[in-house]
Amino acid sequence: MDLHSKRYLLILILTAVVIQVRFVDESHATTKKKTQFTCPVCEKKFDDFVLVSTNNFGGQDHDFLERAAGEQPVLIYPKTCPHCFYSGYPDDFKSVSEAVIEQILHKGALKPMLPISQDAKSYEIPASIKYDLIAQTYRLCAKPEKTIARQFLNASWATRMEPGLPLLILGEEVVDQVHQWKRDQWNKKEASRLGNLALYRIQNARDYIEVAKSSEGEVQTIAALAAIENFRLYGENAEAANALLILKKIMPEKRFSDFEKYLNESIARERHFQTKALLLFEKIIQTEEDKNEKACLTYLCGELHRRLENWDKARKYYVQCLQIDDHPDWLEKWVKEQRDLLPN
Ligand SMILES: [Zn+2]
Repeated sequence: MDLHSKRYLLILILTAVVIQVRFVDESHATTKKKTQFTCPVCEKKFDDFVLVSTNNFGGQDHDFLERAAGEQPVLIYPKTCPHCFYSGYPDDFKSVSEAVIEQILHKGALKPMLPISQDAKSYEIPASIKYDLIAQTYRLCAKPEKTIARQFLNASWATRMEPGLPLLILGEEVVDQVHQWKRDQWNKKEASRLGNLALYRIQNARDYIEVAKSSEGEVQTIAALAAIENFRLYGENAEAANALLILKKIMPEKRFSDFEKYLNESIARERHFQTKALLLFEKIIQTEEDKNEKACLTYLCGELHRRLENWDKARKYYVQCLQIDDHPDWLEKWVKEQRDLLPN
């Protein structure tokens, strides 16, 4: 996995701007304001955004990611000091122990997955890299394993928010065409009926695949790209990979291989963090005493295995989570829906 690419960082920033401009619905938008933080480790100052208001109109992915309409809070929450890489949420920037300061300042304990220059802005650093640094910081602070596992889960969610990337590499004109085509397909009534916008967008992608299979020429290409964008945005990466097979037959070879490479790198980053989260959650559920929490985390292990295409392990955890007393009622519906997605 190539995480040391400056191109990756640059395009992430460009994409953040593109997504913000094209998808914000003003009446529902997430709002944020720039604030100055003082690093409790190196005492230098830096700016980053804090969330002012948000919403849950974007629906919820079945690995618990809640989505807003407009800009996504998961990309705004994490903060990183660009000078010493100390990372956390706003409340973590109040004080820190001398032992942690020593580890960070004198032993270089925090290692970003991408090079971060001293004049970088905290808000320009990809959120997934910040979450990884939060996990490292929290380890130094001896925070509970579950708290650390959640940072890796957040990092995987943040990489999922890069869906514009594969399309952007094909040029702005293609992005415009695909988004216009998606707007033309939009069925507000059906979206309202389903309630969860995230599930509706995944269903859209499956419908787009059918359009791509039964059409030709420009529409076929646009429909396949629209499907891949939605699958990637919602982390349904196995289906995104399948959709690539359609594109491979109709797109010029070099253009396709650039697109495929970029998409696969993006998926690999998400899976890297999912694997790190999963390793911790699988340990945590062995000793979790709260039955409700244990059921939800056991389900999450199943869901992460499904997303990593470990079908048998996914199936095993989906069964196990419903065998735990006091599992929440809604979990039965979720398990049924997710088990139906597994190959026979
Ligand atoms: Zn610092």
